[in-house]
Amino acid sequence: MKVKVNKESCIGCGACAAICEDVFEIGDDGLSQVKVETVSDDKVDSAREAIESCPTAAISEE
Ligand code: SF4
Repeated sequence: MKVKVNKESCIGCGACAAICEDVFEIGDDGLSQVKVETVSDDKVDSAREAIESCPTAAISEE
């Protein structure tokens, strides 16, 4: 599983990083970024939870 953050949509609320800190972090620009090339199997559930929790639907699964 791979995930991508659309920075045009992200508002930097931090929800994704709070839910799944191993995959998402807030970068120097104040917006979310993906920390990993591929989401490991044990992080898929929390990554999907972050996707569903994003208020602006900025995260997509690839
Ligand atoms: Fe951005 Fe969505 Fe993450 Fe909030 S939950 S920081 S809007 S990607």
